Amino acid sequence: MDDNKSEVPLTGITVKKEEDFSEWYTELLNKAELADIRYNVKGFIVYREWATITIRKMFKKTEDLLEKKGHLPLTMPSLIPESNFLLEAQHVEGFAPEVFWVTEAGSSGKLPERLALRPTSETALYKMYALWLRSYKDLPFKRYLSCQVWRYEGKMTRPFFRGREFHWIESHNVFATMEDAMKQVKEDMDSTYQILQDECCIPIIFFQRPEWDKFAGAVHTYAADALMGSGKVLQLPSTHLLGQNFAKPFQVKFVDNDGEEKYAYQTCYGPAQSRNYGAMIAYLGDDKGLVLPFDLAPVQIVIVPIFFKGKEKLVLDKASEVFKQLEEKYVVKIDDRDESVGSKFYYWELRGVPIRIEIGPKDIQKKQFVVVKRHDGQKFIIKETELVKRIDEIAQNYTNEIKKKSLVDFESQIELVYEKDSAIQAINNGKIVACGFCSIDFDGEKCAEVVEKEIGAFVRGKRVDEEKHEFANCLICGKPAGCTVYIARAY
Ligand SMILES: [Zn+2]
Repeated sequence: MDDNKSEVPLTGITVKKEEDFSEWYTELLNKAELADIRYNVKGFIVYREWATITIRKMFKKTEDLLEKKGHLPLTMPSLIPESNFLLEAQHVEGFAPEVFWVTEAGSSGKLPERLALRPTSETALYKMYALWLRSYKDLPFKRYLSCQVWRYEGKMTRPFFRGREFHWIESHNVFATMEDAMKQVKEDMDSTYQILQDECCIPIIFFQRPEWDKFAGAVHTYAADALMGSGKVLQLPSTHLLGQNFAKPFQVKFVDNDGEEKYAYQTCYGPAQSRNYGAMIAYLGDDKGLVLPFDLAPVQIVIVPIFFKGKEKLVLDKASEVFKQLEEKYVVKIDDRDESVGSKFYYWELRGVPIRIEIGPKDIQKKQFVVVKRHDGQKFIIKETELVKRIDEIAQNYTNEIKKKSLVDFESQIELVYEKDSAIQAINNGKIVACGFCSIDFDGEKCAEVVEKEIGAFVRGKRVDEEKHEFANCLICGKPAGCTVYIARAY
């Protein structure tokens, strides 16, 4: 290596992702400086700069998409009076164990009413919707918030995957009919594919969740699961058909075109950006560190000048010339720190910068550069005159190349299973199991408990994009199968 320093390059991640996913993830977060868990409130972490930049880009992409589909932004208070909460019984029952309460303020002491730090905003917004909505002409009414929510999680927290505070978008929509509401649920699923599969390169499957696992207060919940490299699935955005379950207690009504006053139909959708980020870095990352889609990388191209004694100026001048050619289109950085070339390579590979351009005196003499792609390590020697054109090509294909690899990986993780023993084996091998199941209504809950106890996994639900089902019997009770379900370990 052309390098005037003799120090040994810093090592990347010391644990192989395949061998110990959990340890690998922790090292990735620490070494790439993505999160700091030392903040002194349990379950609350600091998102560092590199993570924050990408998460903001993810927010922006989701917000733009929602606005394109007719949603407008709103900003809501983060405190919700307890009386709002008590209006919808199932909702309060579902969320009560996780709510942070504000009970005191200033020197006057106890507040007359407890205030919840919003765990989700239905009960804040729908009070306002009841005041705003009057007529069928106001519908559909589609709004969204970009905000933080707080939930006192009992499960083990893990940076970005699960914490007591997370950062999300929630959209809350009102319609005149159940059909329109269901159309919105489908639109939300499409949006999720657009963001997660197309932009973040995370393959997902949408499931209708079983009755015992739906959002508190919903008619039905549809949730995306991503399979992490560890053989466990992670729940990503979910969209909920609320029907009139909230409209009635919150008095969200409208006068229809027949002159009659009716309760509205509602949906809500909650893409958690911080969790999507966690899923993306966990799924795409490798033993060298982060792999990021081109658009979402905080720095897209890094130029590493390779210095030789006496040639520093020549190399730096060429580096700035290349920088100027690329900076209008891309986020480019010249790494001119006083570090060895090897450790600079590790540094940027760890942080997932998609393209590296190496510039040394010999390259300058030959009028060419070495260019390396992060996600597959492919190396090119590119003529100076063709640099911009070739970089454009590499940049344009970069995200698609990652996506192609991701999608192939995913289907190979699913195994069709006809007996409990083979289900246990498949789950132990880190697979998702597809099998026959009696029912995802409450009738099937007992069988789901058996799945948890004896197979050590969870019934994720009925796949939304799958019409046919090929199993004759329920894997557990042997009764005629009412549907095909997917079973997996989960975070
Ligand atoms: Zn059964």
